[in-house]
Amino acid sequence: MSKKPAARKKPQVPSPKALAPSPKSRKHVYFFGNGKADGNRNMKDLLGGKGSGLAEMTNAGLPVPPGFTISTDVCNIYYKEKQKIPAAIDREIADHVKQLERTAGATLGSIENPLLVSVRSGAKFSMPGMMDTILNLGLNDESVEGLKNRTKNGRFAFDSYRRFIQMFGNVVLEIPKAAFDHEFDAVKKARGAKIDTDLDEAALREVVQRYKKVVKERARKDFPQHPHLQLTMSRDAVFRSWMNPRAIEYRRIYDIPDHIGTAVNVQMMVFGNTGDRSATGVGFTRSPATGAKEFYGEFLINAQGEDVVSGVRTPQPIRELEQVLPKAYAQLRQITTRLEKHYKDIQDFEFTIQDEHLYMLQTRSGKRTGYAAVVIATDLVAEKLITPKEAILLVDPESLNQLLAPGFDQDEWKSIPTATKGLPASPGAASGQVVFTADHAVEWTAQGKQVILVRRETVPDDIHGMFVAQGILTATGGMTSHAAVVGRQMGKPSIVGAGELEIDEHAKRFRVGAKTVKEGDYISFDGLTGEVKIAQVASKPSEILQALNGTLDRKKSDIYQRFEKLLSWADKVRRLGVYANADLPDQAALAYAFGARGIGLCRTEHMFFGEGRIPIVQRMILADSEADRRAALNELLPLQREDFYGVFKAMRGCPVTIRTIDPPLHEFLPKREDLMVDVARLETAGTSGAELDEKRRLLHRVEQLHEFNPMLGHRGVRLGITYPEITEMQTRAIIEAACRLNKEGVRIAPEIMIPLVGLVKELHDQKAIVDRVAADVMKEQGITIKYLVGTMIEIPRGCLVADQIAREAQFFSFGTNDLTQLTFGFSRDDSGKFLKVYQEKKILEKDPFASIDVEGVGDLVRVGVERGRRGRPGLKLGICGEHGGDAASIHFFHQVGLDYVSASPYRVPVARLAAAHAALSVKVGD
Ligand code: ADP
Ligand code: MG
Ligand code: MG
Repeated sequence: MSKKPAARKKPQVPSPKALAPSPKSRKHVYFFGNGKADGNRNMKDLLGGKGSGLAEMTNAGLPVPPGFTISTDVCNIYYKEKQKIPAAIDREIADHVKQLERTAGATLGSIENPLLVSVRSGAKFSMPGMMDTILNLGLNDESVEGLKNRTKNGRFAFDSYRRFIQMFGNVVLEIPKAAFDHEFDAVKKARGAKIDTDLDEAALREVVQRYKKVVKERARKDFPQHPHLQLTMSRDAVFRSWMNPRAIEYRRIYDIPDHIGTAVNVQMMVFGNTGDRSATGVGFTRSPATGAKEFYGEFLINAQGEDVVSGVRTPQPIRELEQVLPKAYAQLRQITTRLEKHYKDIQDFEFTIQDEHLYMLQTRSGKRTGYAAVVIATDLVAEKLITPKEAILLVDPESLNQLLAPGFDQDEWKSIPTATKGLPASPGAASGQVVFTADHAVEWTAQGKQVILVRRETVPDDIHGMFVAQGILTATGGMTSHAAVVGRQMGKPSIVGAGELEIDEHAKRFRVGAKTVKEGDYISFDGLTGEVKIAQVASKPSEILQALNGTLDRKKSDIYQRFEKLLSWADKVRRLGVYANADLPDQAALAYAFGARGIGLCRTEHMFFGEGRIPIVQRMILADSEADRRAALNELLPLQREDFYGVFKAMRGCPVTIRTIDPPLHEFLPKREDLMVDVARLETAGTSGAELDEKRRLLHRVEQLHEFNPMLGHRGVRLGITYPEITEMQTRAIIEAACRLNKEGVRIAPEIMIPLVGLVKELHDQKAIVDRVAADVMKEQGITIKYLVGTMIEIPRGCLVADQIAREAQFFSFGTNDLTQLTFGFSRDDSGKFLKVYQEKKILEKDPFASIDVEGVGDLVRVGVERGRRGRPGLKLGICGEHGGDAASIHFFHQVGLDYVSASPYRVPVARLAAAHAALSVKVGD
């Protein structure tokens, strides 16, 4: 969309250069007002979410104060030009100020009729509390008197002025809020005022004087009186706030790129602080916590915007607005219902009522919990507002995890007395040790503890602690406070406004009733009911899991029904198959219940760790001769056969891919250091005999097997080639189990997968063994079954010669864990340390082990797919790395044409939904 203006200017064949926007010709400022806007809802990239919403509402004829949006491009230009705005753009902004003055019938800086504006940040993605807004800009020592004369309301004029100085001082001049609060409290105290509305004009004049002194002392200059200067300084401060540390941290957590920039909205002020016929508030068209269809929100009489969320006064529930200002309330209901229908999604809105006139200040799709997302999506379909396809796109695949998170055992929970109740801001069960600062939350979590962050109220700087905590509990704030909004978005259990908590953050303790809770004590809470208890409470599987495993009647679980419905819609539109990585029968059964219709990776070696098996495996490894090794393998055979039988059975005839042994053998032996200690201990104790001999033998073998770089050493297909009898035993176990099931009437066709192949001859060697043993077994069993032999493609060379390999392989499964490791040369087990720094320094945007590196590793996959299919048309292709459960990676696998992804059982629902998103998305990578 960014290409249009330039393309229009140059009618000849556009070269790539001509398509790029030229800074001169391009429009940078977009007006809205009087029922018409330059922008619309589809321009979020350029106008940010707020700007595009204001434009759309203006076009729809809703009461929106006029203004203009400075585009996100300007933010990028600002940074490119070393924090300067080019003169041409400055002029464009000045022209729009004039247009706004004409529309508003008021003039910036005028004494008789001053125009006041807000300067509001707004990026494409909303970042609650991360960036800054300034209200009442345009006031100075003269215009404040003008405002007073015009409105005959001196209290209002000086209330607005003190707010402006504080916000400007804080945001632009970077003076801590506390410096202003200190003065404000002093005046309140001196005048015996309990809340801000108790202060009269004289008191507020004094506050203004004191605030100006704070500015003079802290910023070493006078509060700027010139409105145009106030405006440019505020605009630049908003651009600067894009790069403040907490905004950067926020974007890192939510994977929002830095380069998209923020827009700046300059908008005529409307006033909720002119008296008790005025108000300001925020709300949702449905509950963002549970999804229930109820009008939801909060407001304050005689207040301005920030008051509602900042907790200076406790806001009233929005229902009460109906009694106080019935006409405005009715209009608000009507407008927000219309907005929800228009956007086909739950709306989160801001409004201000000035002397009974309603104004809309913001609308956007409401952030919601995973639980609410599923409820809302299925409800909107039932209400015929959206189609099932649209419903699929309304739920972020990742958020389904919240529905699978455990809850409390209700019997235990009910047996513990409730210490207090707060507002249920974000559902889920949380239990952990109390900490009072975000830094402690991070420290303690790093030590392996589970913590609950308890704060009077959270601030945007707490984001890192909120991220790691099990849950968030605050004493103040409403359902739309910072803690509530962020908690919901993170899917983190949260309770806010638990007013009975007396928190002493310095002493690191809180009191509730007669009880005192210190840092480190355990508490638990239920974010759905708001109940807090002073105890550690064990959790219990989620309702959905209970419904799936039969401990709860599926028909009785509303959320299970909705979950299933949504996923069944997803199944209809997705092209990718969804398999699971499962090694044992019970995992396979869970995966099947979650909707996996195949096993993409069954790691046989995990079975070796089963009860009583390790000694047999060690005997096999320690064997000096092939005969001894075969004897040990013969003992393993029946055990493996039972495992495979169980997995096949749990999958009810769906494809099951079994990988032959992969890890280096030393992983099955004790650690060298441990053995050395044991041997030394036995020697000094003077012990001799079988135990010492055994330990010495083990140590000797461990030393023999020692490798400098085991991940690149004797593992995978290399084991099968050097010890063919292992491949023989595993094949026999697989085919015998499959024959038995086929005889029992379950038609299963196992897929035998050879790991770590880079040379076609490696596979050729192993396939010959598999085919020979399979033929023997089928003959013995008197039954013929179908089976496939394929390989994991996880070595870069394997991708490059995929055409050759495909002539031997009947399927490929991309092992993207090893492929990532080998392509980057990053050890998966050691890269944690430096990858963190890589991400901080933006050398890598994402951890390539979590989300596929599309450019590099992804390109190898693409090559493997193309060459593989060239070698064998119709070759079956899947992926079984961790990436199989990652939504962004699934988009790529869809695009590159794989047949299925295989994810861990708990990620199967996420993968089903992500695969549907991929199939529905017009543009991949959007
Ligand atoms: P945020 O993104 O943090 O919500 P906003 O830019 O939306 O920041 O503004 C903060 C508060 O100020 C909101 O309550 C908003 O409604 C209010 N506000 C912003 N602009 C105006 C305006 N022109 N008139 C009245 N209130 C405003
Ligand atoms: Mg807002
Ligand atoms: Mg591997």
